Amino acid sequence: MSGASMSGLLFIIAAPSGAGKTTLVRRLVDRTPNLVLSISCTTRLPRPGEVDGRDYHFMDEARFESLQEAGDFLEWAKVYGYHYGTSRRVIAAEWAAGRDVLLEIDWQGAAQARAIFPQSIGIFILPPSLEALSERLRGRGTDDAEVIERRLLAAREEIRHVDDFDYVIMNADLETAYAQLASVVAASRLTLSCQRRRHPEYFEFSSL
Ligand code: ADP
Ligand code: 5GP
Repeated sequence: MSGASMSGLLFIIAAPSGAGKTTLVRRLVDRTPNLVLSISCTTRLPRPGEVDGRDYHFMDEARFESLQEAGDFLEWAKVYGYHYGTSRRVIAAEWAAGRDVLLEIDWQGAAQARAIFPQSIGIFILPPSLEALSERLRGRGTDDAEVIERRLLAAREEIRHVDDFDYVIMNADLETAYAQLASVVAASRLTLSCQRRRHPEYFEFSSL
């Protein structure tokens, strides 16, 4: 088995901006015991309503660079002109506490994280169409027209990387997409290797 060993599950969720991954992931984390969302570091400014430490760890370029140089990031990437990165230490700490970790990151970061942890579970969220994506970005009301245009251009690039993922969920109807996402998590927790690690007592009969 190649790559670093994992003492918990690592779910990596990617999607073009506006596909609905934050909506789905928030609900998933709220309703799933022992599953946490890794809070990324970013150099972008907070949007109205975003809270430092809850939505992101917001920081300037100098701080981001110093963390990067210290090797703190499992992965990092420049997305829409800003830096984003995932802390290695946080993931290790959550696994040590018996929790599974979910990353909500772009395709570049997903490729880096999957190279390190090949057993991670990659999930790609698709919007029903580019028109729907455009409507959702406008409807969200958090970005100006220029930012939305840039995100729509980047959406095509993001979707080109769908082949790097294990599961694909179409977020047309939110309830259906949520049920599908929850079932991927539930099934991933029932694999033999996960059950053996979490519940060695289930296997005691085999040594009788
Ligand atoms: P992302 O995190 O992928 O950028 P968000 O979760 O912020 O996307 O969703 C973008 C917008 O689309 C939000 O206003 C959200 O309420 C809305 N949205 C999410 N899922 C659906 C859906 N299935 N149908 C319609 N609107 C949705
Ligand atoms: P937003 O600025 O809309 O919150 O996120 C923009 C993009 O950055 C999204 O595609 C999101 O998944 C990605 N992103 C957020 N955090 C990280 C991270 O830690 N690493 C990487 N590579 N991408 C991230």
